[in-house]
Amino acid sequence: MSGAKRILERCDELARLSEEQGMIARWYGSPSLVAAADTVAGWMEEAGLAVRRDAVGNVIGRREAGAGTFVLGSHIDTVRDAGRYDGPLGVLLAIEAAEAAGELPFSLEVVAFADEEGGRFPVTYLGSRGWAGLLGPEDAALTNGLGEVLGDAARAMGGDPDAFGTRSAPEDILGYLETHIEQGPVLQDADLPVGVVTAIAAQSRGIADFRGMAGHAGNTPMHLRRDALAGGAELVLEVERLARATDGLTATVGWIGNEPNFGNVIPGHTWMTYDVRHQDDATRDRARDELEAAAREIAGRRRLELDWRRRDDLPSVPMSPALRVLLAEAAPGAIELGSGAGHDAVTASRLTSEVAMLFVRCKDGVSHHPDESVRSDDVGVALNVIVRFLRLLRDPVSQSERTGE
Ligand SMILES: [Zn+2]
Repeated sequence: MSGAKRILERCDELARLSEEQGMIARWYGSPSLVAAADTVAGWMEEAGLAVRRDAVGNVIGRREAGAGTFVLGSHIDTVRDAGRYDGPLGVLLAIEAAEAAGELPFSLEVVAFADEEGGRFPVTYLGSRGWAGLLGPEDAALTNGLGEVLGDAARAMGGDPDAFGTRSAPEDILGYLETHIEQGPVLQDADLPVGVVTAIAAQSRGIADFRGMAGHAGNTPMHLRRDALAGGAELVLEVERLARATDGLTATVGWIGNEPNFGNVIPGHTWMTYDVRHQDDATRDRARDELEAAAREIAGRRRLELDWRRRDDLPSVPMSPALRVLLAEAAPGAIELGSGAGHDAVTASRLTSEVAMLFVRCKDGVSHHPDESVRSDDVGVALNVIVRFLRLLRDPVSQSERTGE
């Protein structure tokens, strides 16, 4: 069987493990994710890797060789009603590549992160943060809205909440490569199977909260209204206008709350998320500040109160120039592109500057949806690229230059 065929069959097999009938839904500590982790551990062993679990229940397969450890990873949890490739494809490609690459002069680890999507607990990159030793013992007591405790879920995953804070990533890490579906239409548009990621975009998220005055839809004259939703609607269009006018900027209002949200009542309270992303931190900062200024102008003109709450301002994460060169050499003809989405590679960048990502074309750019789809020949190309990349890693850059630490 070809490597690509086996990878796709394994994606199908993992897709059958789910918390809900008729859809893919696999979150941290759930029986389906425990089963997926066991299944992946079995495949790692078949590929000749020595398997261990860390404190948060990540599955790590290792092949011991020379000094230094290169890491290939992605995640095996999913959103609710997910596709079958976001996460698992990167893990299964890594296992296949580890076997196909044969002997290498450095040790190799494949990591299946137990939680990237954050579907059960409000922790970003839970799996890779645990792997990197960025959690503290106190995080084990964290609960979600259902009163579920993070430490219990870790135990279900074969982890050990008492060891939260212990780094399981290799101390001699040479670098990290993550392969992931693109989750966008750029590669399909360019008619290319894979692309080399330049950077993971800077992201700003927060809430714009407008307060006006609720009132009767019939008895309140238009000029006396303080309609919070009408103000919010102006901001939504401003978010779109600014992003369209700024090269490389994406900006989105994805969620709106509205009160009292009743057909014959003027909205008195409207609040919405904003999400602003760009490859360049300064451009992103400027855009976020411009949106805040626009929201204040709207609120002032409409006699609304505005509470502008910044929640996350994450810097962009540049991929390693040296590894980008190697990936380009391993993937002739591939284009470079940015990632608008965050990935476990963000966490890996806290441990080493030698972080790289390879994107695989996905049909119509669809992800986080059951229609997620990849082509078998593209998966074959990605596999060959990873194998070539690992072989190229043998010598072109000295170890100290690679780790950059
Ligand atoms: Zn993912």
